[in-house]
Amino acid sequence: MKQSQIFFPTLKEVPTEAQIPSHKLMLRAGLVRQLGAGIFSYLPLGYRIAKKVMNIIREEMDAIGGQEFHLPALNPIEIWEQTGRVEAMGDVLFHIKNREGLVLAPTHEEIITFHARQHIHSYRDLPQIWYQIQTKFRNEPRPKSGVLRGRQFTMKDSYSLDATREGLDASYEKHASAYRNIYSRSGLKFFVVGASSGAMGGSASQEFMVESPYGEDTCAVCDSCGYAANIEVASSALSAAERIADNNSTEEFATPGARSINDLINGYNIPEERCAKSVVYIVDSKPVLILMRGNDELNEAKLQSALKAVNLRPAEAAELLEITGANAGSIGPVGLKTPALIIADNLLRDANGMVSGTNRDGFHIRNIDFNRDFTVSSFHDLRMARAGEQCSNDCGNALRVVNAIEVGHIFKLGTKYSSALGATFLDENGTENPIIMGSYGIGVERIIACFIEQNHDDKGIFWSPAIAPYHVHILGLNIKKSEITREVSEKLAQQCAEAGLEVLYDDRDESPGVKFNDADLLGLPVQVIAGERNIKDGKIELKIRATGERKTVEIDKAIDEIRDILRI
Ligand code: ATP
Ligand code: MG
Repeated sequence: MKQSQIFFPTLKEVPTEAQIPSHKLMLRAGLVRQLGAGIFSYLPLGYRIAKKVMNIIREEMDAIGGQEFHLPALNPIEIWEQTGRVEAMGDVLFHIKNREGLVLAPTHEEIITFHARQHIHSYRDLPQIWYQIQTKFRNEPRPKSGVLRGRQFTMKDSYSLDATREGLDASYEKHASAYRNIYSRSGLKFFVVGASSGAMGGSASQEFMVESPYGEDTCAVCDSCGYAANIEVASSALSAAERIADNNSTEEFATPGARSINDLINGYNIPEERCAKSVVYIVDSKPVLILMRGNDELNEAKLQSALKAVNLRPAEAAELLEITGANAGSIGPVGLKTPALIIADNLLRDANGMVSGTNRDGFHIRNIDFNRDFTVSSFHDLRMARAGEQCSNDCGNALRVVNAIEVGHIFKLGTKYSSALGATFLDENGTENPIIMGSYGIGVERIIACFIEQNHDDKGIFWSPAIAPYHVHILGLNIKKSEITREVSEKLAQQCAEAGLEVLYDDRDESPGVKFNDADLLGLPVQVIAGERNIKDGKIELKIRATGERKTVEIDKAIDEIRDILRI
Protein backbone atom coordinates (compact mmCIF):
# COMPACT_ATOMS: atom_id res chain seq x y z
CA MET A 1 0.00 0.00 0.00
CA LYS A 2 1.34 3.41 -0.95
CA GLN A 3 1.34 5.82 1.93
CA SER A 4 0.52 8.75 -0.37
CA GLN A 5 -2.81 7.07 -1.10
CA ILE A 6 -4.04 6.22 2.38
CA PHE A 7 -5.73 8.26 5.08
CA PHE A 8 -3.08 8.42 7.78
CA PRO A 9 -3.43 11.78 9.57
CA THR A 10 -0.61 12.00 12.11
CA LEU A 11 -0.38 14.77 14.70
CA LYS A 12 2.83 16.45 15.82
CA GLU A 13 1.35 17.93 18.98
CA VAL A 14 -0.04 15.89 21.83
CA PRO A 15 -3.80 16.60 22.02
CA THR A 16 -4.60 18.21 25.38
CA GLU A 17 -7.53 15.90 26.18
CA ALA A 18 -5.20 12.88 26.17
CA GLN A 19 -3.58 12.07 29.51
CA ILE A 20 -2.14 8.58 29.11
CA PRO A 21 0.37 7.24 26.57
CA SER A 22 -2.00 4.93 24.68
CA HIS A 23 -4.58 7.68 24.26
CA LYS A 24 -1.97 10.19 23.09
CA LEU A 25 -0.35 7.76 20.68
CA MET A 26 -3.59 6.44 19.20
CA LEU A 27 -4.56 10.03 18.36
CA ARG A 28 -1.09 11.07 17.19
CA ALA A 29 -0.57 7.98 15.02
CA GLY A 30 -3.92 8.52 13.28
CA LEU A 31 -5.51 5.33 14.60
CA VAL A 32 -8.64 6.86 16.15
CA ARG A 33 -10.43 10.19 16.50
CA GLN A 34 -12.68 11.23 19.33
CA LEU A 35 -16.27 12.03 18.42
CA GLY A 36 -17.62 12.71 21.92
CA ALA A 37 -16.92 11.73 25.54
CA GLY A 38 -16.13 8.01 25.46
CA ILE A 39 -16.97 7.77 21.75
CA PHE A 40 -14.24 7.07 19.21
CA SER A 41 -14.05 6.55 15.45
CA TYR A 42 -11.53 4.04 14.21
CA LEU A 43 -9.56 5.43 11.27
CA PRO A 44 -8.34 2.92 8.64
CA LEU A 45 -5.01 2.02 10.29
CA GLY A 46 -6.65 1.69 13.70
CA TYR A 47 -9.33 -0.53 12.27
CA ARG A 48 -6.72 -2.80 10.65
CA ILE A 49 -5.31 -3.37 14.16
CA ALA A 50 -8.78 -4.01 15.61
CA LYS A 51 -9.52 -6.55 12.85
CA LYS A 52 -6.31 -8.41 13.62
CA VAL A 53 -7.16 -8.57 17.32
CA MET A 54 -10.69 -9.70 16.48
CA ASN A 55 -9.32 -12.41 14.19
CA ILE A 56 -7.07 -13.78 16.91
CA ILE A 57 -10.06 -13.83 19.25
CA ARG A 58 -12.23 -15.49 16.60
CA GLU A 59 -9.65 -18.20 15.88
CA GLU A 60 -9.24 -19.03 19.55
CA MET A 61 -13.00 -19.04 20.18
CA ASP A 62 -13.57 -21.29 17.15
CA ALA A 63 -10.82 -23.59 18.44
CA ILE A 64 -12.79 -24.26 21.66
CA GLY A 65 -15.93 -24.98 19.69
CA GLY A 66 -17.46 -21.51 19.91
CA GLN A 67 -20.16 -20.64 17.38
CA GLU A 68 -20.29 -17.05 16.24
CA PHE A 69 -23.53 -15.09 16.54
CA HIS A 70 -24.27 -11.46 15.85
CA LEU A 71 -26.93 -10.23 18.23
CA PRO A 72 -28.68 -6.87 18.00
CA ALA A 73 -27.52 -3.97 20.15
CA LEU A 74 -31.13 -2.79 20.27
CA ASN A 75 -32.96 -4.86 22.89
CA PRO A 76 -36.56 -5.03 24.11
CA ILE A 77 -36.55 -3.74 27.68
CA GLU A 78 -38.99 -6.45 28.88
CA ILE A 79 -36.27 -9.07 28.69
CA TRP A 80 -34.02 -6.91 30.83
CA GLU A 81 -36.86 -6.31 33.28
CA GLN A 82 -37.36 -10.04 33.75
CA THR A 83 -33.84 -10.46 35.15
CA GLY A 84 -34.02 -7.31 37.30
CA ARG A 85 -31.12 -5.76 35.45
CA VAL A 86 -32.83 -2.56 34.35
CA GLU A 87 -32.64 -1.60 38.02
CA ALA A 88 -29.30 -3.24 38.72
CA MET A 89 -27.61 -1.48 35.78
CA GLY A 90 -29.15 1.87 36.72
CA ASP A 91 -27.66 4.75 34.79
CA VAL A 92 -25.19 2.57 32.91
CA LEU A 93 -28.01 1.24 30.71
CA PHE A 94 -28.82 3.53 27.78
CA HIS A 95 -32.57 3.98 27.28
CA ILE A 96 -34.07 5.11 23.97
CA LYS A 97 -36.21 8.21 24.36
CA ASN A 98 -38.27 8.30 21.19
CA ARG A 99 -39.04 4.56 21.08
CA GLU A 100 -40.46 3.25 24.33
CA GLY A 101 -39.43 -0.19 25.37
CA LEU A 102 -35.96 -0.38 23.84
CA VAL A 103 -32.53 -0.21 25.44
CA LEU A 104 -28.99 -0.40 24.06
CA ALA A 105 -27.33 -3.59 25.21
CA PRO A 106 -24.37 -3.22 27.62
CA THR A 107 -23.84 -7.03 27.50
CA HIS A 108 -25.91 -9.98 26.22
CA GLU A 109 -26.67 -12.58 28.91
CA GLU A 110 -30.39 -11.86 28.59
CA ILE A 111 -30.54 -12.21 24.80
CA ILE A 112 -28.49 -15.43 24.74
CA THR A 113 -30.74 -16.90 27.44
CA PHE A 114 -33.82 -15.80 25.46
CA HIS A 115 -32.64 -17.75 22.40
CA ALA A 116 -31.61 -20.71 24.53
CA ARG A 117 -35.12 -20.83 25.97
CA GLN A 118 -36.55 -20.90 22.44
CA HIS A 119 -34.50 -23.82 21.18
CA ILE A 120 -32.65 -25.76 23.88
CA HIS A 121 -35.02 -28.37 25.32
CA SER A 122 -33.00 -31.46 26.12
CA TYR A 123 -29.64 -32.39 27.64
CA ARG A 124 -28.91 -33.69 24.12
CA ASP A 125 -28.88 -30.06 22.90
CA LEU A 126 -26.05 -29.24 25.33
CA PRO A 127 -23.28 -28.16 25.75
CA GLN A 128 -23.06 -25.03 23.59
CA ILE A 129 -20.60 -22.14 23.43
CA TRP A 130 -22.12 -19.10 21.75
CA TYR A 131 -20.09 -15.97 21.10
CA GLN A 132 -20.07 -12.71 19.23
CA ILE A 133 -17.75 -9.77 18.60
CA GLN A 134 -19.99 -6.77 18.79
CA THR A 135 -20.55 -3.21 19.88
CA LYS A 136 -21.60 -2.60 23.48
CA PHE A 137 -23.10 0.55 24.96
CA ARG A 138 -22.52 1.61 28.55
CA ASN A 139 -23.20 5.04 29.94
CA GLU A 140 -19.93 5.12 31.87
CA PRO A 141 -20.09 8.06 34.31
CA ARG A 142 -16.62 9.43 33.62
CA PRO A 143 -15.26 8.07 30.38
CA LYS A 144 -11.54 8.75 30.44
CA SER A 145 -8.26 7.18 29.42
CA GLY A 146 -9.23 7.12 25.74
CA VAL A 147 -10.58 3.85 24.39
CA LEU A 148 -9.84 2.03 27.66
CA ARG A 149 -13.23 3.13 28.98
CA GLY A 150 -15.63 4.00 26.19
CA ARG A 151 -19.38 4.54 26.17
CA GLN A 152 -19.43 2.51 22.97
CA PHE A 153 -16.84 -0.24 22.61
CA THR A 154 -16.21 -3.62 21.04
CA MET A 155 -16.50 -6.73 23.15
CA LYS A 156 -16.12 -10.38 22.46
CA ASP A 157 -18.71 -11.89 24.72
CA SER A 158 -19.37 -15.58 24.95
CA TYR A 159 -21.74 -17.72 26.92
CA SER A 160 -21.56 -21.38 27.76
CA LEU A 161 -24.68 -23.49 28.17
CA ASP A 162 -24.30 -26.75 30.06
CA ALA A 163 -26.41 -29.49 31.58
CA THR A 164 -24.12 -30.18 34.55
CA ARG A 165 -21.76 -28.37 36.93
CA GLU A 166 -18.91 -30.50 35.58
CA GLY A 167 -19.86 -29.35 32.09
CA LEU A 168 -19.67 -25.72 33.26
CA ASP A 169 -16.24 -26.39 34.78
CA ALA A 170 -15.04 -27.75 31.42
CA SER A 171 -16.47 -24.80 29.43
CA TYR A 172 -14.89 -22.37 31.90
CA GLU A 173 -11.48 -24.06 31.63
CA LYS A 174 -11.70 -23.96 27.82
CA HIS A 175 -12.27 -20.21 28.01
CA ALA A 176 -9.44 -19.72 30.50
CA SER A 177 -7.03 -21.38 28.09
CA ALA A 178 -8.44 -19.58 25.01
CA TYR A 179 -8.00 -16.25 26.84
CA ARG A 180 -4.38 -17.02 27.70
CA ASN A 181 -3.75 -17.80 24.02
CA ILE A 182 -5.47 -14.61 22.86
CA TYR A 183 -3.38 -12.32 25.09
CA SER A 184 -0.15 -14.21 24.43
CA ARG A 185 -0.65 -14.17 20.68
CA SER A 186 -1.44 -10.44 20.80
CA GLY A 187 1.83 -9.89 22.65
CA LEU A 188 0.35 -8.69 25.97
CA LYS A 189 2.00 -9.33 29.31
CA PHE A 190 -0.85 -10.18 31.67
CA PHE A 191 -1.70 -11.88 34.93
CA VAL A 192 -4.81 -13.57 36.22
CA VAL A 193 -6.62 -12.82 39.47
CA GLY A 194 -9.59 -14.35 41.21
CA ALA A 195 -10.69 -17.69 42.47
CA SER A 196 -9.91 -20.48 40.08
CA SER A 197 -12.48 -23.09 39.30
CA GLY A 198 -13.42 -25.39 42.14
CA ALA A 199 -14.20 -29.02 41.31
CA MET A 200 -17.94 -28.56 41.60
CA GLY A 201 -18.44 -25.32 39.74
CA GLY A 202 -20.10 -22.64 41.81
CA SER A 203 -19.52 -19.01 41.13
CA ALA A 204 -15.81 -18.89 40.30
CA SER A 205 -14.57 -15.93 38.33
CA GLN A 206 -11.21 -14.79 37.02
CA GLU A 207 -10.06 -11.48 35.67
CA PHE A 208 -7.23 -11.06 33.21
CA MET A 209 -5.21 -8.02 34.17
CA VAL A 210 -2.48 -5.85 32.68
CA GLU A 211 -0.22 -3.96 35.08
CA SER A 212 -0.40 -0.22 34.42
CA PRO A 213 -0.21 2.96 36.49
CA TYR A 214 -3.45 3.98 34.77
CA GLY A 215 -5.39 0.91 35.86
CA GLU A 216 -8.46 1.39 38.01
CA ASP A 217 -8.02 -1.93 39.84
CA THR A 218 -5.42 -2.59 42.54
CA CYS A 219 -3.80 -6.02 42.78
CA ALA A 220 -1.17 -7.75 44.89
CA VAL A 221 1.28 -9.75 42.77
CA CYS A 222 4.21 -12.03 43.53
CA ASP A 223 6.85 -12.05 40.82
CA SER A 224 8.34 -15.28 42.11
CA CYS A 225 5.48 -17.80 42.26
CA GLY A 226 2.94 -15.95 40.10
CA TYR A 227 0.42 -15.38 42.93
CA ALA A 228 -1.87 -12.50 41.97
CA ALA A 229 -5.06 -11.31 43.60
CA ASN A 230 -7.29 -8.30 43.57
CA ILE A 231 -6.49 -6.24 46.66
CA GLU A 232 -10.10 -6.85 47.76
CA VAL A 233 -9.21 -10.47 48.50
CA ALA A 234 -5.38 -10.50 48.59
CA SER A 235 -3.70 -11.93 51.66
CA SER A 236 -0.09 -12.15 52.82
CA ALA A 237 1.87 -14.52 55.05
CA LEU A 238 1.67 -12.61 58.34
CA SER A 239 0.85 -14.61 61.44
CA ALA A 240 -0.60 -13.63 64.82
CA ALA A 241 1.87 -12.66 67.56
CA GLU A 242 2.59 -15.15 70.36
CA ARG A 243 0.77 -14.55 73.65
CA ILE A 244 2.91 -12.72 76.20
CA ALA A 245 3.72 -14.25 79.61
CA ASP A 246 2.74 -11.30 81.86
CA ASN A 247 -1.02 -11.51 81.74
CA ASN A 248 -1.86 -8.67 84.15
CA SER A 249 -5.35 -7.36 84.63
CA THR A 250 -6.59 -4.44 82.60
CA GLU A 251 -5.67 -0.94 83.65
CA GLU A 252 -6.90 2.42 82.42
CA PHE A 253 -4.40 5.17 81.74
CA ALA A 254 -4.75 8.74 80.58
CA THR A 255 -3.75 9.47 76.99
CA PRO A 256 -4.54 13.14 76.46
CA GLY A 257 -4.24 14.11 72.81
CA ALA A 258 -3.78 10.54 71.53
CA ARG A 259 -6.22 10.12 68.67
CA SER A 260 -4.47 7.63 66.42
CA ILE A 261 -2.37 4.49 66.67
CA ASN A 262 0.68 6.57 65.70
CA ASP A 263 -0.01 8.91 68.64
CA LEU A 264 0.08 5.86 70.96
CA ILE A 265 3.24 4.52 69.34
CA ASN A 266 5.09 7.83 69.39
CA GLY A 267 3.64 9.54 72.47
CA TYR A 268 3.27 6.58 74.84
CA ASN A 269 5.94 4.22 73.61
CA ILE A 270 3.56 1.38 72.84
CA PRO A 271 4.81 -1.02 70.14
CA GLU A 272 2.51 -1.10 67.09
CA GLU A 273 1.79 -4.83 67.44
CA ARG A 274 0.43 -4.23 70.97
CA CYS A 275 -2.17 -1.76 69.69
CA ALA A 276 -5.67 -2.92 68.76
CA LYS A 277 -7.46 -0.40 66.59
CA SER A 278 -11.27 -0.34 66.80
CA VAL A 279 -13.42 0.64 63.83
CA VAL A 280 -17.21 0.82 63.98
CA TYR A 281 -19.37 0.04 60.95
CA ILE A 282 -23.10 -0.05 60.43
CA VAL A 283 -23.65 -3.38 58.70
CA ASP A 284 -27.17 -4.00 57.39
CA SER A 285 -28.43 -1.47 59.98
CA LYS A 286 -26.60 -3.05 62.96
CA PRO A 287 -23.48 -1.73 64.68
CA VAL A 288 -20.32 -3.86 64.41
CA LEU A 289 -17.05 -3.12 66.17
CA ILE A 290 -14.06 -4.41 64.22
CA LEU A 291 -10.63 -4.84 65.80
CA MET A 292 -7.53 -4.55 63.65
CA ARG A 293 -3.90 -4.94 64.66
CA GLY A 294 -1.88 -1.71 64.89
CA ASN A 295 -2.17 0.42 61.80
CA ASP A 296 -3.63 -2.36 59.66
CA GLU A 297 -6.24 -1.04 57.26
CA LEU A 298 -9.69 -2.61 57.26
CA ASN A 299 -10.57 -4.07 53.86
CA GLU A 300 -14.26 -3.33 53.29
CA ALA A 301 -14.65 -6.01 50.63
CA LYS A 302 -13.34 -8.64 53.05
CA LEU A 303 -15.63 -7.32 55.79
CA GLN A 304 -18.59 -7.50 53.46
CA SER A 305 -17.92 -11.10 52.46
CA ALA A 306 -17.03 -12.19 56.03
CA LEU A 307 -20.40 -10.93 57.30
CA LYS A 308 -22.29 -11.75 54.08
CA ALA A 309 -23.49 -8.17 54.25
CA VAL A 310 -25.55 -6.30 51.68
CA ASN A 311 -24.99 -2.74 52.92
CA LEU A 312 -22.21 -1.41 55.06
CA ARG A 313 -20.72 1.95 55.92
CA PRO A 314 -18.50 3.46 58.60
CA ALA A 315 -20.48 4.78 61.60
CA GLU A 316 -20.88 8.56 61.69
CA ALA A 317 -19.51 10.61 64.60
CA ALA A 318 -22.90 10.85 66.36
CA GLU A 319 -23.53 7.11 66.00
CA LEU A 320 -20.06 6.38 67.34
CA LEU A 321 -20.75 8.41 70.45
CA GLU A 322 -24.10 6.68 70.95
CA ILE A 323 -22.73 3.17 70.50
CA THR A 324 -19.44 3.49 72.38
CA GLY A 325 -19.82 6.53 74.61
CA ALA A 326 -16.68 8.09 73.13
CA ASN A 327 -15.36 9.82 70.03
CA ALA A 328 -13.06 8.29 67.43
CA GLY A 329 -9.59 7.82 68.92
CA SER A 330 -10.79 6.51 72.27
CA ILE A 331 -13.11 3.64 71.35
CA GLY A 332 -12.50 0.00 72.22
CA PRO A 333 -14.15 -3.38 72.78
CA VAL A 334 -14.39 -3.21 76.59
CA GLY A 335 -17.32 -1.31 78.17
CA LEU A 336 -19.36 -0.33 75.14
CA LYS A 337 -22.37 1.86 75.90
CA THR A 338 -24.65 -0.12 73.58
CA PRO A 339 -24.02 -3.82 72.88
CA ALA A 340 -22.55 -4.40 69.42
CA LEU A 341 -21.27 -7.39 67.53
CA ILE A 342 -17.48 -7.57 67.95
CA ILE A 343 -15.31 -9.23 65.31
CA ALA A 344 -11.54 -9.16 64.87
CA ASP A 345 -8.83 -9.70 62.33
CA ASN A 346 -7.08 -13.10 62.34
CA LEU A 347 -3.82 -11.46 63.49
CA LEU A 348 -5.49 -10.71 66.85
CA ARG A 349 -6.52 -14.31 67.56
CA ASP A 350 -5.64 -15.14 71.22
CA ALA A 351 -3.99 -11.73 71.62
CA ASN A 352 -3.18 -10.46 75.12
CA GLY A 353 -1.28 -7.54 76.58
CA MET A 354 -3.06 -5.27 74.11
CA VAL A 355 -3.81 -1.55 74.30
CA SER A 356 -7.08 -0.12 73.12
CA GLY A 357 -9.49 2.78 73.76
CA THR A 358 -11.70 2.65 76.87
CA ASN A 359 -14.78 4.34 75.41
CA ARG A 360 -13.94 7.41 77.53
CA ASP A 361 -12.38 10.35 75.69
CA GLY A 362 -8.70 10.84 76.53
CA PHE A 363 -8.16 7.37 78.07
CA HIS A 364 -6.87 4.01 76.94
CA ILE A 365 -6.70 0.62 78.57
CA ARG A 366 -3.73 -1.77 78.70
CA ASN A 367 -3.29 -5.53 79.30
CA ILE A 368 -6.39 -6.47 77.33
CA ASP A 369 -6.74 -10.23 76.83
CA PHE A 370 -8.94 -11.12 73.86
CA ASN A 371 -9.83 -14.44 75.52
CA ARG A 372 -10.69 -12.92 78.90
CA ASP A 373 -11.97 -9.36 78.76
CA PHE A 374 -14.71 -9.38 76.11
CA THR A 375 -16.23 -11.72 73.55
CA VAL A 376 -15.06 -11.73 69.96
CA SER A 377 -17.84 -13.36 68.00
CA SER A 378 -15.56 -14.37 65.12
CA PHE A 379 -12.11 -13.86 63.61
CA HIS A 380 -11.58 -13.30 59.88
CA ASP A 381 -8.95 -12.10 57.46
CA LEU A 382 -10.06 -8.46 57.35
CA ARG A 383 -6.87 -6.57 56.62
CA MET A 384 -5.62 -4.93 53.47
CA ALA A 385 -2.47 -6.69 52.26
CA ARG A 386 0.46 -4.31 51.86
CA ALA A 387 3.38 -4.08 49.44
CA GLY A 388 6.53 -5.68 50.85
CA GLU A 389 4.69 -8.31 52.92
CA GLN A 390 5.57 -11.91 52.18
CA CYS A 391 3.56 -13.88 49.65
CA SER A 392 1.14 -16.30 51.29
CA ASN A 393 2.36 -19.14 49.09
CA ASP A 394 5.51 -20.60 50.55
CA CYS A 395 7.83 -18.70 48.21
CA GLY A 396 9.05 -16.10 50.72
CA ASN A 397 8.98 -13.35 48.12
CA ALA A 398 7.77 -9.80 48.83
CA LEU A 399 4.41 -8.85 47.32
CA ARG A 400 4.08 -5.88 45.02
CA VAL A 401 0.86 -3.88 45.03
CA VAL A 402 0.16 -2.53 41.55
CA ASN A 403 -2.55 -0.81 39.54
CA ALA A 404 -3.99 -2.88 36.75
CA ILE A 405 -6.39 -2.70 33.82
CA GLU A 406 -8.94 -5.48 33.36
CA VAL A 407 -8.73 -6.84 29.80
CA GLY A 408 -11.01 -9.81 30.24
CA HIS A 409 -13.28 -11.60 32.63
CA ILE A 410 -14.54 -15.17 32.83
CA PHE A 411 -17.38 -15.99 35.14
CA LYS A 412 -19.44 -19.01 36.19
CA LEU A 413 -22.95 -17.58 36.16
CA GLY A 414 -24.76 -20.72 37.19
CA THR A 415 -28.54 -20.51 36.73
CA LYS A 416 -29.25 -16.87 37.54
CA TYR A 417 -30.37 -15.90 34.04
CA SER A 418 -31.80 -19.25 32.95
CA SER A 419 -33.97 -19.37 36.08
CA ALA A 420 -35.13 -15.78 35.67
CA LEU A 421 -36.02 -16.28 32.00
CA GLY A 422 -37.23 -19.88 32.23
CA ALA A 423 -34.54 -21.40 29.99
CA THR A 424 -34.79 -25.04 31.05
CA PHE A 425 -33.96 -28.45 29.62
CA LEU A 426 -34.98 -32.02 30.42
CA ASP A 427 -32.13 -34.09 31.87
CA GLU A 428 -31.53 -37.82 31.28
CA ASN A 429 -34.19 -38.67 33.88
CA GLY A 430 -36.74 -36.40 32.28
CA THR A 431 -36.45 -33.80 35.04
CA GLU A 432 -36.67 -30.14 34.10
CA ASN A 433 -33.64 -28.04 35.14
CA PRO A 434 -32.42 -24.54 34.39
CA ILE A 435 -29.48 -24.42 31.95
CA ILE A 436 -26.14 -23.88 33.73
CA MET A 437 -24.40 -20.89 32.20
CA GLY A 438 -21.04 -19.14 32.06
CA SER A 439 -20.26 -15.66 30.74
CA TYR A 440 -16.94 -14.53 29.31
CA GLY A 441 -15.89 -11.07 28.05
CA ILE A 442 -12.89 -9.47 26.37
CA GLY A 443 -12.53 -5.80 25.45
CA VAL A 444 -11.01 -5.39 21.99
CA GLU A 445 -10.03 -1.75 22.52
CA ARG A 446 -8.52 -2.61 25.90
CA ILE A 447 -6.20 -5.15 24.25
CA ILE A 448 -5.06 -2.52 21.75
CA ALA A 449 -4.59 0.28 24.29
CA CYS A 450 -2.91 -2.01 26.84
CA PHE A 451 -0.56 -3.28 24.17
CA ILE A 452 0.46 0.32 23.44
CA GLU A 453 0.90 1.04 27.16
CA GLN A 454 3.40 -1.83 27.29
CA ASN A 455 5.13 -1.21 23.95
CA HIS A 456 6.03 2.39 23.26
CA ASP A 457 8.76 5.00 23.71
CA ASP A 458 8.84 8.80 23.38
CA LYS A 459 8.64 8.58 19.62
CA GLY A 460 5.79 6.17 19.21
CA ILE A 461 4.48 2.64 19.28
CA PHE A 462 6.16 -0.66 18.49
CA TRP A 463 3.69 -3.26 17.27
CA SER A 464 4.08 -7.01 17.41
CA PRO A 465 3.80 -8.64 13.96
CA ALA A 466 0.54 -10.32 15.07
CA ILE A 467 -1.46 -7.12 15.46
CA ALA A 468 0.57 -4.50 13.54
CA PRO A 469 -1.47 -2.65 10.91
CA TYR A 470 1.24 -3.66 8.38
CA HIS A 471 4.41 -5.70 8.90
CA VAL A 472 6.95 -3.66 6.98
CA HIS A 473 7.43 0.08 6.46
CA ILE A 474 9.51 0.89 3.39
CA LEU A 475 10.85 4.42 3.59
CA GLY A 476 11.89 5.57 0.16
CA LEU A 477 14.23 8.51 0.81
CA ASN A 478 14.34 11.38 -1.71
CA ILE A 479 12.60 9.28 -4.35
CA LYS A 480 11.59 12.34 -6.36
CA LYS A 481 15.29 13.00 -7.04
CA SER A 482 16.70 9.49 -7.02
CA GLU A 483 15.23 7.25 -9.71
CA ILE A 484 17.23 4.22 -8.52
CA THR A 485 15.91 4.61 -4.96
CA ARG A 486 12.33 4.75 -6.22
CA GLU A 487 12.84 1.67 -8.39
CA VAL A 488 14.43 -0.39 -5.63
CA SER A 489 11.79 0.71 -3.08
CA GLU A 490 8.93 -0.22 -5.40
CA LYS A 491 10.48 -3.53 -6.29
CA LEU A 492 11.01 -4.38 -2.62
CA ALA A 493 7.42 -3.43 -1.83
CA GLN A 494 6.24 -5.76 -4.56
CA GLN A 495 8.50 -8.61 -3.44
CA CYS A 496 7.36 -8.22 0.18
CA ALA A 497 3.73 -8.42 -0.95
CA GLU A 498 4.49 -11.51 -3.05
CA ALA A 499 6.12 -13.07 -0.01
CA GLY A 500 2.86 -12.58 1.91
CA LEU A 501 4.04 -9.62 3.97
CA GLU A 502 1.85 -6.57 4.48
CA VAL A 503 3.77 -3.51 3.33
CA LEU A 504 3.30 0.17 3.77
CA TYR A 505 5.49 2.04 1.28
CA ASP A 506 6.23 5.65 2.14
CA ASP A 507 6.34 7.12 -1.35
CA ARG A 508 5.46 10.65 -0.23
CA ASP A 509 7.41 13.68 -1.29
CA GLU A 510 8.51 14.38 2.28
CA SER A 511 11.93 14.85 3.85
CA PRO A 512 13.70 11.81 5.33
CA GLY A 513 13.23 13.36 8.79
CA VAL A 514 9.44 13.48 8.41
CA LYS A 515 9.40 9.88 7.16
CA PHE A 516 11.54 8.63 10.06
CA ASN A 517 9.32 10.36 12.61
CA ASP A 518 6.09 9.07 11.14
CA ALA A 519 7.52 5.54 10.88
CA ASP A 520 8.61 5.58 14.53
CA LEU A 521 5.24 7.00 15.57
CA LEU A 522 3.20 4.36 13.73
CA GLY A 523 5.65 1.67 14.85
CA LEU A 524 5.49 -1.09 12.23
CA PRO A 525 7.83 -3.88 13.38
CA VAL A 526 10.42 -3.51 10.58
CA GLN A 527 11.48 -0.38 8.74
CA VAL A 528 13.31 -0.69 5.43
CA ILE A 529 15.31 2.47 4.91
CA ALA A 530 15.96 2.85 1.20
CA GLY A 531 18.64 5.51 0.67
CA GLU A 532 20.66 6.11 -2.50
CA ARG A 533 24.09 5.69 -0.91
CA ASN A 534 23.42 2.14 0.35
CA ILE A 535 21.53 1.18 -2.79
CA LYS A 536 24.51 2.12 -4.96
CA ASP A 537 26.50 -0.48 -2.94
CA GLY A 538 23.73 -3.03 -3.55
CA LYS A 539 22.55 -2.68 0.06
CA ILE A 540 19.60 -1.57 2.12
CA GLU A 541 19.18 -0.70 5.80
CA LEU A 542 16.70 -2.48 8.07
CA LYS A 543 15.62 -1.12 11.44
CA ILE A 544 13.81 -3.15 14.07
CA ARG A 545 11.43 -0.65 15.66
CA ALA A 546 11.15 -2.31 19.09
CA THR A 547 14.88 -2.52 19.77
CA GLY A 548 16.20 0.21 17.51
CA GLU A 549 18.66 -2.33 16.10
CA ARG A 550 19.86 -1.57 12.56
CA LYS A 551 21.35 -3.88 9.94
CA THR A 552 22.65 -3.18 6.49
CA VAL A 553 21.95 -6.13 4.20
CA GLU A 554 22.26 -7.05 0.53
CA ILE A 555 19.14 -5.97 -1.34
CA ASP A 556 18.56 -9.57 -2.60
CA LYS A 557 18.64 -10.88 0.96
CA ALA A 558 16.32 -8.23 2.40
CA ILE A 559 13.11 -10.28 2.18
CA ASP A 560 14.64 -13.28 3.95
CA GLU A 561 16.07 -11.01 6.64
CA ILE A 562 12.71 -9.31 7.17
CA ARG A 563 10.92 -12.64 7.48
CA ASP A 564 13.54 -13.75 9.93
CA ILE A 565 12.99 -10.68 12.09
CA LEU A 566 9.21 -11.00 11.92
CA ARG A 567 9.30 -14.77 12.38
CA ILE A 568 6.33 -15.20 10.04
P1 ATP B 1 -14.72 -2.36 34.45
O1 ATP B 1 -14.69 -2.83 35.87
O2 ATP B 1 -13.38 -1.93 33.93
O3 ATP B 1 -15.82 -1.38 34.18
P2 ATP B 1 -16.44 -4.50 33.79
O4 ATP B 1 -16.29 -5.38 34.97
O5 ATP B 1 -17.60 -3.61 33.70
O6 ATP B 1 -15.09 -3.67 33.59
P3 ATP B 1 -17.24 -6.65 32.06
O7 ATP B 1 -18.66 -6.30 32.19
O8 ATP B 1 -16.74 -7.89 32.70
O9 ATP B 1 -16.34 -5.41 32.48
O10 ATP B 1 -16.89 -6.64 30.50
C1 ATP B 1 -15.96 -7.53 29.89
C2 ATP B 1 -14.78 -6.78 29.30
O11 ATP B 1 -15.19 -5.69 28.47
C3 ATP B 1 -13.87 -6.17 30.33
O12 ATP B 1 -12.97 -7.12 30.83
C4 ATP B 1 -13.18 -5.10 29.53
O13 ATP B 1 -12.09 -5.65 28.80
C5 ATP B 1 -14.23 -4.65 28.54
N1 ATP B 1 -14.90 -3.40 28.95
C6 ATP B 1 -15.82 -3.24 29.92
N2 ATP B 1 -16.24 -1.97 29.99
C7 ATP B 1 -15.57 -1.30 29.02
C8 ATP B 1 -15.58 0.06 28.58
N3 ATP B 1 -16.36 0.96 29.14
N4 ATP B 1 -14.75 0.41 27.55
C9 ATP B 1 -13.95 -0.51 26.96
N5 ATP B 1 -13.91 -1.80 27.33
C10 ATP B 1 -14.70 -2.20 28.34
MG1 MG C 1 -17.83 -1.64 34.06
